[in-house]
Amino acid sequence: MIYLDSHATTPVDPRVLDAMLPFFTEHFGNASSRNHPFGWKAGKAVEHAREQVASLIGVRFRDVVFTSGATESNNLAIKGAAARAPQHRRHIVTVATEHPAVLDPCRRLERDGFRVTLLGVDADGRLDLQQVRDAIADDTLLLSVMSGNNEIGVLHPLPEIAALARERGVLFHCDAVQSAALIPMNARALGIDLVSLSAHKMYGPKGVGALYVAKKEPAIDLEALIDGGGHERGYRSGTLNVPAIVGFGRAAELCRENALAEASRLRTLRDRLWSGLSQSLDGIFVNGAMEDRLPQNLNVRFDGVHGETLLKAMTNDLAVSSGAACATASAEPSHVLRALGLTDEQARASIRFGLSRFTTEPEIDTAVITVCDAARHLRKTAQ
Ligand SMILES: *Cc1c(COP(=O)(O)O)cnc(C)c1O
Repeated sequence: MIYLDSHATTPVDPRVLDAMLPFFTEHFGNASSRNHPFGWKAGKAVEHAREQVASLIGVRFRDVVFTSGATESNNLAIKGAAARAPQHRRHIVTVATEHPAVLDPCRRLERDGFRVTLLGVDADGRLDLQQVRDAIADDTLLLSVMSGNNEIGVLHPLPEIAALARERGVLFHCDAVQSAALIPMNARALGIDLVSLSAHKMYGPKGVGALYVAKKEPAIDLEALIDGGGHERGYRSGTLNVPAIVGFGRAAELCRENALAEASRLRTLRDRLWSGLSQSLDGIFVNGAMEDRLPQNLNVRFDGVHGETLLKAMTNDLAVSSGAACATASAEPSHVLRALGLTDEQARASIRFGLSRFTTEPEIDTAVITVCDAARHLRKTAQ
């Protein structure tokens, strides 16, 4: 069984697990316990992890808030900022291809009286910077644009977007979940205000993530989603999940150490996958720009093939998906592919491949054969 669904989740790296294990049984203290070594040990480990995560995105460790994952981070950034927005700043700008964890909080705010502008993208999934500029108005509070798309891998030009936001005094939030493992970001130098991360998309455990909240003047005002003991500087109460946070930190460190080499290895394997498929099959197309793209992503449209049927035909050999894991529960075609202008049928004929740290060249070659055999068979039986 070959796993090529790394945009949905990645396995925990054994080195990450090793770092986590002592914090379940031996060092089980509450990171907030101030009166004994059990608490000190846990608290120290959390602060070390905070430094490891901060280093990955080029920020100060104090400005990293641990959460239960990027869904929570996105909600905290968007709803948290909206809850404290002055009356004259009730407009949010985001993009049609964002993750549901950005789009749904924006929709909720729209019901609560905010104005939301959803920017479209071109047929390759790219944003037009002039459109971003035009969308920002005097009442704009926040601009939310992801770094790398979780379905089509398209990368948005963060430096330019951050500069636009800064020019107009608008908060800039970036969901960097998919790019963090392979494309080091210097959020502080770029002037990004809020960055969401998730451990399980970068070889760490599920159920832990982070929100970077830039320290600036005047301070970014976010209302907590969860109130309680005032943990995480009041942004996120609740006893810290120490083993998960330790694992997240180690995962971030491992990514940072090897990002460049790993990105180039995955890009080569991804290109091998595409050339294998395109040499053997007619009527297939890449969804999304091939140049500005996450190195681990490929999204392919197979004309005349139903994506779900293709997936089913390969289900014992190859783990891939027809879109975001969170959207596959519904029968709706991908909102990202629809935003590129694909018809429902074309969107349904598309498959997302996500390569990981553990993907090998022989696996790619086997995957090519599996997909080609299944697609040919389906096309033949459809006639
Ligand atoms: C997976 C994902 C999320 C959600 O992260 P969780 O930690 O699973 O809540 C948010 N944004 C993007 C782009 C993702 O790929």
